[in-house]
Amino acid sequence: IKLVVLTENRPHERRVALVPQVASKLSALGLDIWIQQDAGLASRIPDQAYLDASATPPLQIAASLPELLQNAHIVLAVQPPAAETLKLLAPGTIVLCFVYAQREPEMVKLLRDLQLTCFAMELVPRISRAQAMDALSSQAALAGYYGALLGATTLARILPMMTTAVGSIRPAKCLVMGLGVAGLQALATARRLGAVTEGYDVRPDTKEQAESLGAKFVDTGVDGRGEGGYARELTIDEQQKIQAVLTKHIQQADLIITTAAIPGRPSPKLISKAQVDGMKNGAVIVDLAADGGGNCAYSVPGETVHIGQVTIAAPFNVPSLLAEHASELYAKNLLNLIGLFIKDAAIHLDWDDEILAKTVLTHQGEIKNAAAKTIVE
Ligand code: NAD
Repeated sequence: IKLVVLTENRPHERRVALVPQVASKLSALGLDIWIQQDAGLASRIPDQAYLDASATPPLQIAASLPELLQNAHIVLAVQPPAAETLKLLAPGTIVLCFVYAQREPEMVKLLRDLQLTCFAMELVPRISRAQAMDALSSQAALAGYYGALLGATTLARILPMMTTAVGSIRPAKCLVMGLGVAGLQALATARRLGAVTEGYDVRPDTKEQAESLGAKFVDTGVDGRGEGGYARELTIDEQQKIQAVLTKHIQQADLIITTAAIPGRPSPKLISKAQVDGMKNGAVIVDLAADGGGNCAYSVPGETVHIGQVTIAAPFNVPSLLAEHASELYAKNLLNLIGLFIKDAAIHLDWDDEILAKTVLTHQGEIKNAAAKTIVE
């Protein structure tokens, strides 16, 4: 079975779908691995590091796309591959990458029309058995960690309490809004750096999780639980009720890290312009929801802006800024997913397997995911 790893070609993407230490594990499944030239370079992995991986047969590097993709059975990428690349694949080829159908309807149509079997990594179900394949979680954990560091270095003050000969410095107050995987990691990291932490989410079960990380939970009395353990969109009344409680906490914070997301919808706006205008001089907001449009009304996705004395950073694709570890974890997520359909060195797609059935986006000329189908057809 020939497995191909593509070089990423979208802006802001430094990750790669395979790292050398995972390559040997994939080859142990009986796969013949081909890497596009310089695929790992943006993650600081030169081609030679792949050639040195203990894979049997040894990995091959190819510069020419037709040679690379000829007779490919499985293709790995982080972002959806370019249309010209996909057109070189035979029908039935298995493609694994993030797709995000709501942002990429044309890509979904193309995958369907080319009769490719695409497993979209953002669709891996959030169930215990799929944890080792859950790329959303592995990448979000890194983003949350980075968000706290970015906030700490953007602030013109320190996070911990510090006692000096000329007096004590009070610890910074850090508020994390949205306590999924990224938010909890941001809370934990800010606390390790010495900040006094507060967490807020619309899902009440996050209270206990925040408290277990030493943070106070901001209780707004609104239960915004939606389907499948995710949040739902809030009504105007609910938003106003929340705003009244949150404003005080926003105004007292030195650092706010926001991570709120609703599947398939733009990022909810958690911080209004008026709330930013009332923030402390020197306060910093790190908006980790920039890829979905951002959580703050003033955020400019991909940029850092200054509103009065408040700084708002909304970087794109944060996991990619930690490309070495992000690639390593993503590659392991892929390895575990591939392990579900390779049996005795042959591909066997068992659609009774809940993980495969829920992760498949397109197969044999059809869109298999109901939400994506509504968007596209
Ligand atoms: P996400 O990235 O979809 O969203 C981040 C957070 O934003 C969520 O906690 C959400 O509740 C919150 N949010 C949405 N709208 C909000 C609003 N208006 N105000 C405040 N917060 C808001 O989240 P995620 O990290 O992908 O996690 C989503 C769910 O999946 C969670 O319930 C999480 O515990 C669960 N999960 C389960 C597993 C597993 O069981 N294998 C693994 C990972 C995550």
